[in-house]
Amino acid sequence: MVEVAVVGGGVCGLFCGLILAEHDVEVAIFEEHPSIGKPSHCAGHLSIKNLEQLGFYPLPKGILENEYKGAFFYSPTGNSFKVEFDSPVTCSVNRESFDKFVAELALKAGVKVHLKTYVKSLVIRNRQVKGININYDGKLKHVNVKMVVDAEGVSSRILRQVGLQTLNRSMVVNGVSAETERVKNLNEDFIEVYFGNAYAPGFYAWIMPRKDGTAKIGLATKQGNPKQFLDKFKQKHPVASKKLDGAKIVQKTFHPITLGGFIPQSFSEGFIVVGDAASQVKPTTGGGVILGMNCAKIAAETIHKALKKRDFSAKVLSEYQRRCRKLMGFDMRVMFWMRKIFDKLSDSQIDKLILKCQSLGLSETLGKVQDIDFQGRSIARIAWQPSIISFGLYLIFEVLFSQKPFN
Ligand SMILES: Cc1cc2nc3c(=O)[nH]c(=O)nc-3n(C[C@H](O)[C@H](O)[C@H](O)COP(=O)(O)OP(=O)(O)OC[C@H]3O[C@@H](n4cnc5c(N)ncnc54)[C@H](O)[C@@H]3O)c2cc1C
Repeated sequence: MVEVAVVGGGVCGLFCGLILAEHDVEVAIFEEHPSIGKPSHCAGHLSIKNLEQLGFYPLPKGILENEYKGAFFYSPTGNSFKVEFDSPVTCSVNRESFDKFVAELALKAGVKVHLKTYVKSLVIRNRQVKGININYDGKLKHVNVKMVVDAEGVSSRILRQVGLQTLNRSMVVNGVSAETERVKNLNEDFIEVYFGNAYAPGFYAWIMPRKDGTAKIGLATKQGNPKQFLDKFKQKHPVASKKLDGAKIVQKTFHPITLGGFIPQSFSEGFIVVGDAASQVKPTTGGGVILGMNCAKIAAETIHKALKKRDFSAKVLSEYQRRCRKLMGFDMRVMFWMRKIFDKLSDSQIDKLILKCQSLGLSETLGKVQDIDFQGRSIARIAWQPSIISFGLYLIFEVLFSQKPFN
């Protein structure tokens, strides 16, 4: 018997466990894989400010790979637009080491981490989650709990069992992330973002340089095979192909990214959902680490309160969803609509928009935006600037004349 069982030892499950243990809650995390952080599918591009706010910056040696002062944005024909900040605002972390670091903190705080342990199903009595059935070493066991935190990622198997609506599959893209050596002509202080349906339909491709000539490259696509799109990006993109000519991909991982915004309900009797399972991911960029960790913290605080009250009813746990939405509901809605608008643009429109960004001098205005996670608020802060108003009107005009319907 433990008080709280967490399904999944990804970053959100681990962080939720850590905060629970810091509140003296008895918590056990169940992870199906033999090692934390593996396989790692994530590019690990994170905001420095928001890592700091979560207590994770500066990071110990070996986790931080690089810091970035901005980004280059490219259109499918190679038009580009640069956004530069005065000092680094984002960083690249090694996701395996980062997750292992959070796991170490959790273990030190008293969390029990059970590896190679698959949570087969939930035990539900009178609609209340009361335990989990686990499979360890081929043996089935039953664990009684007061609460379950579902941090299983995009698979949504456990979520389905509770009867909660799972993430919107029509808004899921398939991602590939590749460790690459011998990449040329990169400015190591900037990440590179490549838009265009020809290379990454429904998302974008990226190059994240390190200081030693290696880089993480990747993309996601709404349709087709991401591996084939990555090959095409490497060989045919007018700008990227020159940088990646002769480059060697040493490792590739594939994983879906959920872009549909929060699932409608992320709690039920004795049960809370965090991270990718709850689709706490930015619909614009696919970044889920910072949002997921923020929600995982709120989940832990809500559970701690419920334990003190000895009341694990949906009514008490609904505070979790209320607080998550208060923190980032507005940003999520804005990012969702931005994703819908981006999805409507044709490659020639993207070309024109990148040129428009240049001609309106948006670099300077966007260089003042320091928050890449809470993008709704960031946009609201600069929305009154003449260059943003002009760009917004231009974008609306382009979208109105786009042939693609919203779906
Ligand atoms: C290609 C790609 C690039 C990305 N790049 C970025 C980025 O640059 N920045 C960013 O912020 N985000 C990025 N993301 C998103 C980010 O990786 C996720 O949002 C984040 O890792 C989600 O963490 P999580 O703990 O919710 O889920 P996961 O990391 O998926 O962890 C879930 C864990 O639960 C385990 N599990 C599942 N079911 C069970 C079960 N029944 N029993 C036991 N264990 C189980 C799984 O094995 C897994 O270890 C990227 C994603 C992809 C695919």
